[in-house]
Amino acid sequence: MFIQPRKKSPVIKKILAFALFVFFFTACKKDASVGPMQGSMDDVAFNNYETHFLEELWKLNPDWATSVGYHKYDSLLFIPDKKYREKLINFTKVQLDSLGRYTPTAFLETNKMDYAMMQNQMQYMQWQLEQLKAYEWDPSSYNIIGTFAYILNEHYAPLAKRLTNFYQKMAGIPAYYKAAELQLKNPVTELTSLAIEQHLGGVSVIENDFADSLKKTNIPEATKKLMLDRAKLSADAIKQFAEYLKNLKNDHPRSFRLGKDLYGEKFKYETQASETAQQIYNAAIERKKYVHHEMAKLTLKLWTRYFGTQPKPADTLDMIGKMIDTLSAKHVAPAEFQAAIEKQLPKLSAFVRTKDLVTLDPTKPLVVRREPGYMAGVAGASMSSPGPYDIRQNAYFNVGSLSGWAPEKAESYLREYNQYILQILCIHEAIPGHYVQLMYANKAPSMIKSVFGNGAMVEGWAVYSEQMMLDNGYGDNEPEMWLMWYKWNLRSVCNTILDYGVHSLNMPRQQAITMLTHEAFQQQAEADGKWKRVSVTSVQLDSYFTGYKEILDLRDDYKSKMGDKYKLKEFNEKFLSYGSAPVKLIKEAMLAKEPAQGTEKH
Ligand code: ZN
Ligand code: ZN
Repeated sequence: MFIQPRKKSPVIKKILAFALFVFFFTACKKDASVGPMQGSMDDVAFNNYETHFLEELWKLNPDWATSVGYHKYDSLLFIPDKKYREKLINFTKVQLDSLGRYTPTAFLETNKMDYAMMQNQMQYMQWQLEQLKAYEWDPSSYNIIGTFAYILNEHYAPLAKRLTNFYQKMAGIPAYYKAAELQLKNPVTELTSLAIEQHLGGVSVIENDFADSLKKTNIPEATKKLMLDRAKLSADAIKQFAEYLKNLKNDHPRSFRLGKDLYGEKFKYETQASETAQQIYNAAIERKKYVHHEMAKLTLKLWTRYFGTQPKPADTLDMIGKMIDTLSAKHVAPAEFQAAIEKQLPKLSAFVRTKDLVTLDPTKPLVVRREPGYMAGVAGASMSSPGPYDIRQNAYFNVGSLSGWAPEKAESYLREYNQYILQILCIHEAIPGHYVQLMYANKAPSMIKSVFGNGAMVEGWAVYSEQMMLDNGYGDNEPEMWLMWYKWNLRSVCNTILDYGVHSLNMPRQQAITMLTHEAFQQQAEADGKWKRVSVTSVQLDSYFTGYKEILDLRDDYKSKMGDKYKLKEFNEKFLSYGSAPVKLIKEAMLAKEPAQGTEKH
C-alpha cells in the first residue's frame, strides 16, 4: 500500500509495472515494418528477442507472471527443488549468452536501457540462486498464497475460469511444501516467525474464500466436490508447513543481518545505482546532519510564535521535537480526513501548472475514488494500478476513511498525517509524485522497463518531487511546512542509515530505536515497526534516499551541461520520458553528447 509511502509492497510492484499492454503490442506490430523510427535492423532484432525473452521468463516463473497480469501460466506451480533452480540458472545463462550477441552501443537509447536492465536482471537472478541462497534461510520466501489470492480477487477473467486455474495450481501444493522443508538450513528466526504468521494468516484464502467463490459459479456439484477436497488437502499442507516451522530444531539460526558483502552486492543489483551502498550511507549521514541544522534554524525562527517566552530545551533535538509535536496537533477531524485528501489534488495540479513544473496530461486526470470495500481498514491514500499486461485503463487514487477507528488510534494517525504531512503525502503519491511518474512511464514503450521497473528511481522521483514543490514556493515558504517536510525527508534518510547500519555494520536494536525516535522524531510504535521491517527485509528501505540523491546529482550535472538553456520543466519531463529505468542509465542518456547515434532519425 502506498499509505506508508516508504514501504514497497506488491501493490507498489504493480504500480512500477503499470499497464503498458497497448504500447507493447504497438511495438510488436511495428517490428514487422522496418522504418527509420524503429532504429536499425539490430534494434528490430532485439525487440523481437525481448518478446521471446519475456515469454520464456513467464513460462519459468508462473507466480511472477500472474502478478504482472500475464495469465497463460496461472495453473502452474513449480516444486522449489534443486532441479527447478538448475532450470532457472540455465535460463539466465542462455539469456546472458543471447544478450552477448548484440552490440548495444548501436541501439536506440530505449533499447540500450532495456539491454542493461535485462543483463542486470539475469545476473541478479544468478547471484540470488548461487550466492544469496535465500531458499535455504528464508521460509517466508515459500509463501505462495498471494498468487492464489490474486487469482481469486482480480477480475481479469470469468470467475469459473479463474477458479479452475486455482484448482489446477493447488494440485502441486502438498509436494511444494514437502520440498520447501527439505531446502531449509538453519533459517533466520525472524523470517521463520514471519513465515508461520503469513501462512497461518493467509490459509483462509484456500480454506474459506475459495469455497465462498465456488458457490457463485455454476460449476457442476460433482466437480465442486473435487475442488473442495483438494482445497482441504492444500490447506492442511500449508498448516503442516507452519507446524513444521514451529517445531523446527534450529540451534544455530542464520542471523537476519545480511552482512556487508551480500548487502553490497544486493544493493548493486537491486538499485543499479552509480554509487556503492557505503557511499550512499555516508551521504545519508551527512544529509542527516544538514537536515538537523536546518530544522534547528526553523524551530528558532518559530519558537516565540508558539511558545512565547518559554525556555527552549537545552538539547537541540529535544527542542525540534517539541516544535514538531506542537505542529502535529494541527490536523483534520477523523470524519473530514477523506474529504481533505480529495480537496488537495486539484490544488496540487493547479500549482504544478501555474509554476510550469511538468506537463500534466489533461486527457488522463487522476481518478479519485473512495476506498473500495476489500481495502477497508486501510486509511490514508494509496494508488491502485493494473499490472503491465492488464488492459484496464485507469489507475486509481484510493482515499481511505477513518470511520470505525478507535479514537486514540485515529488521533495518533491524524497527528502523524497532520495538516502539513497530508499535503506532502499527496505530493508524494500523486501530483507530481508517483501518479505523474506513472503517466510518463506509460508513454515509454518498453515492457522490460515496466516489468523490471527500478524501485529507487520510482521512489526517488516521489521524494524528489516533494522537495521540488517546496523549492518552487509550495506552502508559501512557511517555516512550519519546511520543518515538517524535513521531518518527512528524515524518514527516507534514516531508512538508509538503518538498513545499511543493521545489515552491514551490526547496528544494535537499541541504537536503531534511539536514532528513529530521538533523531528522526518518530513515535515509539513507528520505530518498533521499522525495526521489525528491517529484520525481515534488506535494501528495500535504502531505495528512497538512494533514488532521491541520484536524481538531485543528475539534475546538478544536467544544469552544468545545459548552462543558460537549463529549464526545470524540461529536466523533469526528459527525466520521466525514459520510463522506470535506473537513474544511472537515464543519466547516461541525458548527459550524452548530442546528437545521439545516427540511427535516431526523426
Ligand atoms: Zn512512494
Ligand atoms: Zn489531535
